[in-house]
Amino acid sequence: MLKIKDLHANVDGKEILKGINLEVGPGEVHAIMGPNGSGKSTLASVIAGNETYEVTAGDIFLNEENIEDLSPEERAHNGVFLSFQYPVEIPGVSVTNFMKTAINESRKAKGLEDMPAKDMLKLIRDKSELLEIDRKFLSRSLNEGFSGGEKKRNEIFQMAMLEPKLAILDETDSGLDIDALRIVANGVNKLKSKDNAIVVITHYQRLLEYIVPDYVHVLYNGKIVKSGTKELALELEEKGYDWIKQEAAV
Ligand code: ADP
Ligand code: MG
Ligand code: MG
Repeated sequence: MLKIKDLHANVDGKEILKGINLEVGPGEVHAIMGPNGSGKSTLASVIAGNETYEVTAGDIFLNEENIEDLSPEERAHNGVFLSFQYPVEIPGVSVTNFMKTAINESRKAKGLEDMPAKDMLKLIRDKSELLEIDRKFLSRSLNEGFSGGEKKRNEIFQMAMLEPKLAILDETDSGLDIDALRIVANGVNKLKSKDNAIVVITHYQRLLEYIVPDYVHVLYNGKIVKSGTKELALELEEKGYDWIKQEAAV
């Protein structure tokens, strides 16, 4: 699904990603962990095509297709979803209307007509039932006065509606209360399927008590320095990152 080969990327002329190799297969959930400032969010942004970052070497393939020359919008239309770390408020636009527009824009980019209203309603109903999102929430103004948990609910709803092939959830280190954690974890567990791949980026092991990843990777100083299974996350929780830093320095 996703294949990253020797990826290097700069910001303001400074190298942040220093040779990332990563393969994520369909049906898999991968967790990327690592200390603050190691390049986790940069990696997510580079995969999504954020032009702030300059890719200086390496390749990113989505389903065997090199996505290097695709804009962020084209990548999104090709099935890449990146959760919004700092979602914008759009007063007067409801959660569902925002999604209707997003879906129809994506269809338009593929040369398709708007989704028939009946199908759209069914899609909204199916996804909101799956995620146990109530109708009142769907008619709220996008992100206006949303709590941390509600922002997460909205992100997971967006992910459900867009049915991405590759979903990258970049969970900020702070502000994730237990409620928000559960919403994200339930969403991931319900939305994972054999046809998609999910990458969860997190500073803390806590989220991984609810999402059981197939693989865990540690990103440090712009490189994946260790990969393993969920036991690696437990080990990190217990021992912290210092041993990783020491190993990486050898
Ligand atoms: P993480 O998500 O692992 O905490 P980041 O990818 O956010 O790490 O940051 C990695 C490094 O890149 C940090 O030193 C950060 O200051 C730098 N960096 C990231 N984005 C930018 C940017 N837009 N401008 C300048 N420096 C950046
Ligand atoms: Mg980050
Ligand atoms: Mg290249």
